Amino acid sequence: MRLLPDLVLTPHGWVADCAVAITDGRIAFVGPVRAVEPGDVRLPGRALLPGTVNAHCHTFQSLLRGLGDDLDFMGWRDRVLYPFSERLDRDGIALGAAFAFAEMLRHGATTCVDFFYLNDDGNENAEAVIEAARRVGIRLVLARALYDWEGAPKRYRESVPEAPRRVASLIAAHRHDDTIRVQPAPHSAHGASAAMIRAGWEVAEEADTPFHIHVAEGQYEGQRTLAEHGATPIRYLDTLGVLGPRTIAVHCVWLEDDEIALMAARGAALAYCPSSNMFLGDGITRVTEMLAAGIRVGLGTDGGCTNNRLSVFEEMRMTSLLQRVRHLDGAVLGARAAFDLGTRSGAALLGLETATIAPGQLADLVAVDLDDPSLHPRTDLLASVVYAMSPQAITDVWVHGRRVVEHGRLTTVDMDELLTRIRSLTTGWRL
Ligand SMILES: [Zn+2]
Repeated sequence: MRLLPDLVLTPHGWVADCAVAITDGRIAFVGPVRAVEPGDVRLPGRALLPGTVNAHCHTFQSLLRGLGDDLDFMGWRDRVLYPFSERLDRDGIALGAAFAFAEMLRHGATTCVDFFYLNDDGNENAEAVIEAARRVGIRLVLARALYDWEGAPKRYRESVPEAPRRVASLIAAHRHDDTIRVQPAPHSAHGASAAMIRAGWEVAEEADTPFHIHVAEGQYEGQRTLAEHGATPIRYLDTLGVLGPRTIAVHCVWLEDDEIALMAARGAALAYCPSSNMFLGDGITRVTEMLAAGIRVGLGTDGGCTNNRLSVFEEMRMTSLLQRVRHLDGAVLGARAAFDLGTRSGAALLGLETATIAPGQLADLVAVDLDDPSLHPRTDLLASVVYAMSPQAITDVWVHGRRVVEHGRLTTVDMDELLTRIRSLTTGWRL
């Protein structure tokens, strides 16, 4: 199959009259169109971009959207997250995942990390999320959590021998899937014991995967880790031996200068969630300093009830704007840098060959309507995509070569039916 848009965003910039050929889920060829062939998909008036990579999300949280929007972090956690996540059975978890995946695809996110912790002492719930991803048609990295802090709901918690054994078996079960990866994810320095964090690391080493962990989202976390373990979060993780090139540290809002230097020295990466950090009033991650130190960065939306949007294009914009506010400088972190974080850089942290339109890369693509008012005037199209583009401009999406959004509508699931089920499940949910 070949796609024939007006413009293609390649690593070298925009190219006109360019075909993108797809074979077995990968881009086989990017180059000039000599003649239109049978089976070509013509996309007049569209530009083709790489699909975006959502490096951190919790999909079930989309079902909690709107419940505690004006609470602080502790209020949100204790009055919304903990009690309402207890209402979800396996069907509810799968429904929340499908809902979030559907919304992300319509916003041009073709890969999603679901940091998943409603495990109920097994892998069946995670498998239900994986099945939902396959059905809706998104590329999924299931960051399978390991959690043993007794303050959290029981269904999040597992024992140290059981959790890593289950994560390892889930990784093995999906190792050869085209669109699914499983990676270990101890919840955080406060949500997982030292033994649990270490056990998750060993699974990552054994299976040679990335390793996800929440780090220093709120100020209280640093104080608590310091009080309990005698070190701030990054130093603590380093003493456990779990800070390295496979580490994806989520948030990192409250790091000291030498923690940034330590992350850089160890090669650890950041999954940055600017909208969520703003929404919960967490603070501002020092992304420009982290990038300058050589730390690799991807962008995440975080859960649907702490953002409350699920668009990586939105996170590109917020990344740039928030750093400008912090530095009082409108020249900081420009459109190209922000676009890179939400695409190629995020894919690289996850170990995925996606988010670049080039031969050999996975065929995860987004078409945007060049006639959309938000992309006018046509001065700097990439800057307009980052700062100005309306979600309505996204018309078509392909994941692994499968067209999952066509003319703005999902091809894989019935959105009306999905929304009917969401309304029925959440009827009467109030604080
Ligand atoms: Zn998170």
